[in-house]
Amino acid sequence: MQKRKVVLLGSTGSIGTSTLKVAKEIPDRMEIVALAANSSVVDLARQAKETGVKHVALYDVSKESELRAALPEGVQIHLGPEGLLEVATLAGADMVLVAIVGTAGLHPALAAIEAGKDLAVASKEILVMAGELVMAAAERKGVNVLPVDSEHNAIFQCLNGHQGGEREVSRLILTASGGPFRQTSAEELKHVTLAQALKHPTWEMGRKITIDSSTLFNKGLEMIEARWLFGIEMERIDVIVHPQSIVHSMVEYIDGSVLAQMSNTDMCFPIQYAVTWPDRVVGGLSPLDFAQLAKLEFEAPRYEDFPALQLARRAGEEGGTLPAVFNAANEVAVDAFCDGLIGYLDIADVVGKVMDAHCTLQAADLETLISADLDARHSAHGFIQ
Ligand code: NDP
Repeated sequence: MQKRKVVLLGSTGSIGTSTLKVAKEIPDRMEIVALAANSSVVDLARQAKETGVKHVALYDVSKESELRAALPEGVQIHLGPEGLLEVATLAGADMVLVAIVGTAGLHPALAAIEAGKDLAVASKEILVMAGELVMAAAERKGVNVLPVDSEHNAIFQCLNGHQGGEREVSRLILTASGGPFRQTSAEELKHVTLAQALKHPTWEMGRKITIDSSTLFNKGLEMIEARWLFGIEMERIDVIVHPQSIVHSMVEYIDGSVLAQMSNTDMCFPIQYAVTWPDRVVGGLSPLDFAQLAKLEFEAPRYEDFPALQLARRAGEEGGTLPAVFNAANEVAVDAFCDGLIGYLDIADVVGKVMDAHCTLQAADLETLISADLDARHSAHGFIQ
């Protein structure tokens, strides 16, 4: 049984904190060897003490002296974007778990692959922006890309052991909780506030993904993420609303048989499976009590009222630079909504307008994708103003 030495990028966030919990639960299978955060110095220093890591990375260089003062002797600090690359390629580490919100984890993820590390990916945005490049690099280097996102982790489990290849898969079916506004009328959606959007019915997560879950942009991002992770074109990727969030996603095979992965809603489980794969080990997940569950419901998404799904489908089908544009415009629009600059329904409106204004380039290399991302952010700011 292999013990994984894991570099954790985004350690102070929701996924980061859950990852540290998992590491405590399975110490014979997982050791955290480096941590990275943006600017949460106090939390980062506390985590460094608790885990005993010898390397920490901090993106915000202005807080170096504050971090130094809070850290135990002998811990090396890596600063800024370079610092993230240094820990992502740390000698002795064999896996990098990317849980940085947004696309700041893309360069470290690519660097980790080049250094021969396996990647565990929570940051869906990097696969949406550059999934084709990430997966091609991983294949070239012979490293694994393991999904942490619960839906993709579920699909990964349902595909495990299947010998027949993707030709025998008729659909990947992503489940969606439907978010806090599953039953909110189209009229009421116009007046949704930030506080309402931040109340997710089944998952406790960081702020950006919680807003994305409410607009269904999260599910849209996941459709594109699935497209690259599993090498399946968009036509074979579907979404179904499942309010209980017990079935985490499904694979339908060409003979009509559907495999589903079920468990309680706890992100620690997909994190653990990504780290211990291909093994299963005892962890902190409580077993399902089917008698208590009583029923599992499924319903079609409200495509008209939640345009994110159709925008995502369009971005994924057209490919090239459009998924990066879809993602970047959404990031800017979510920030603007959080800052009170635009209304709730404007988020999808801004993304749609930025996509319409974009001229898609195919066969995009990293530079082209970064440039499309920056243009889309600029364009989104323009529409917001
Ligand atoms: P949070 O907002 O809770 O945490 C984000 C983390 O990223 C923090 O540690 C933050 O550090 C760090 N960070 C942000 N920018 C940088 C940067 N430039 N350099 C280094 N670190 C940075 O987010 P979540 O944990 O909720 O989500 C993380 C990712 O995982 C997202 O892509 C999300 O879509 C995905 N995901 C999350 C799930 C969840 O349940 N939360 C489920 C599935 C996927 P600091 O604290 O210093 O700001």
